[in-house]
Order: sequence, then C-alpha cells, then structure tokens
Amino acid sequence: MPTKLVILDRDGVINYDSDHFIKTPDEWKPIPGSLEAIARLNQAGYRVVLATNQSGVGRGLFDMAMLNAIHDKMHKLLGQHGGRIDALFYCPHAADSKCACRKPSPGMFEEIAKRFNMGLEGVPAIGDSLRDLQAAAAMGAQPILVKTGKGEKTLAAGGLPENTPVFDDLAAAVKHLLSQAS
Ligand SMILES: [Mg+2]
Ligand SMILES: [Zn+2]
Repeated sequence: MPTKLVILDRDGVINYDSDHFIKTPDEWKPIPGSLEAIARLNQAGYRVVLATNQSGVGRGLFDMAMLNAIHDKMHKLLGQHGGRIDALFYCPHAADSKCACRKPSPGMFEEIAKRFNMGLEGVPAIGDSLRDLQAAAAMGAQPILVKTGKGEKTLAAGGLPENTPVFDDLAAAVKHLLSQAS
C-alpha cells in the first residue's frame, strides 16, 4: 500500500500564531480540535509531517534547545490525544538568508519526498500563509488553506494557487479529507 502523507504547517494551523513568534513552550497553545484532527489522520493511516519556518532561531529570538522544548510539548500533548507527528522539518534561517528551505522555497518538501521516498503529487499540504501553499504547489502537492492563524488575511489578499480549497480550521480540513473515498 502506498504511503499516505499529510504535510502541515505549524504556527496558525496546529497552534495559535503570534506576530511576536512562539518563543517558549508556554506560548505554544493548540488551536481547539487540531490535536484530535492529527490523531484522526493517524488512525486513518496517514503519516503526518511538519514543515515549519522558524526564523526566530536565525534572528536569535530563541535557540535550538528552546525549539526542541516547544516541540517536546507539542509531541506530549499530541500523544495524550493518541496522535503523532512522524517527521518534523524546520527552517531555522532568517528571512533574508536566501536558504533553500524557507517557504515559499520547496526545500523542506524536497526533503520530505526524499525521506519518504515518494513523489508529493496530490499530497495534502495544509497551511495558513501563501508561502505554505506556494511551496506545496511547487512540488505538485495539493495546497489547502485554513482560516486560522494568518489564513483570513491570506484569503483576503488573494493570489492563491489554483484549486486551493479553504476550510475554517485543521479539524474541518481533516474531516473533509477523511470523508473522501480513498
Ligand atoms: Mg503558519
Ligand atoms: Zn532555511
């Protein structure tokens, strides 16, 4: 059976976003229903992969030990809901670093394809910012916008990749995904 993947952005999709960055575990607060939604994906046989820009590291706002502590909290809370994230990719570079991994560049998506040894054509990729959708579209993945986080602003600004469905939040997007025959 082929591997079923879903790629998620983190801030504004799983947890509440902040214009001041998520710098500590305390600041990482799950959006209601998001952890349950990930668990539901797992139960349906999906592997869930994170691809997240974390330029706060490159800007010196928090270090790798802190990023790991934040992710420890995420994994722990997720585990309490019976969910798991199979792989976590992050770009720690500052916005002006011109690295290959910061979305909208597709570097993290290329890494995901390599890690799972598969193409990403049609793989659902859920984000709240245009750059999430652009990175997904560049790899032939299926971009999906949620209105949480920066999603409302992203939707209002327009210019989404063609055929980008829009959902209220991760729970609604997952509910739709799982309602489709597969
Ligand atoms: Mg985001
Ligand atoms: Zn990077």
